[in-house]
Amino acid sequence: MINNPLEKFGLKDAVCAFSRRQDGNMSLCYGDIQGSLENRKKFLSGIGIDYRDLICAKQVHGKTVTYVTQANKGSGALDYESSISDTDGFLTDKKNVPMAILTADCLSVFIYDPRRPAAGVLHAGWRSTEKNICAEGVRLMQEKFGSSPDELLVGFGPSIRSCCFEVAKDFKSNFGFGLVERQGRIFMDIALINQKQLIECGIKEENIFDPGICTFSDNDYFSFRKEAEGAGRMISVIMLK
Ligand SMILES: [Zn+2]
Repeated sequence: MINNPLEKFGLKDAVCAFSRRQDGNMSLCYGDIQGSLENRKKFLSGIGIDYRDLICAKQVHGKTVTYVTQANKGSGALDYESSISDTDGFLTDKKNVPMAILTADCLSVFIYDPRRPAAGVLHAGWRSTEKNICAEGVRLMQEKFGSSPDELLVGFGPSIRSCCFEVAKDFKSNFGFGLVERQGRIFMDIALINQKQLIECGIKEENIFDPGICTFSDNDYFSFRKEAEGAGRMISVIMLK
């Protein structure tokens, strides 16, 4: 089973992974949080990350992407309150700075610049997708790191897909692409929309890997729409090493 969506690109100086239901809840504020720190410790140590170094966000479904460094290590690692506020994505060009976002249906987008090197992870639910958080992430990589979009490698985590994600009819006016109509109902594919937005930024289609996992249909993943308030969260983490 895939848990590193950048694996096919053969990363040498970064670790990247998303967790599954079997790894347990990774959130310190949603779902059953009793074992979350232990779950993080176990999952992250398996990929060479000290869970106490983790940088997490108070995600708000916006499009703010925050540049982080060693100084931010541990923000949100041991308690939710110390997470970096009002942000839905992280970028860094520093080594050993593990950045995480938490999801249960929303898409995680991993971005890697092998030349600099630099890396980032974004939280793209439909609201952030509507605001085009991918374009903001790519723009910031160009501005801060001089990244060239045609060199960037992108991997997607699991998300709810058009098989299961029904949306209101008025979504049609905001999303010209990635909506599927079936029997008069509208369904949305967040991953497809983000893929298109990334290509519009100059990312090559062959440099985007989508594992094609639907969190609602596949019980190996937490799904907020299926499990409501009880849903745990998966972690998507990337770190330069
Ligand atoms: Zn589905």
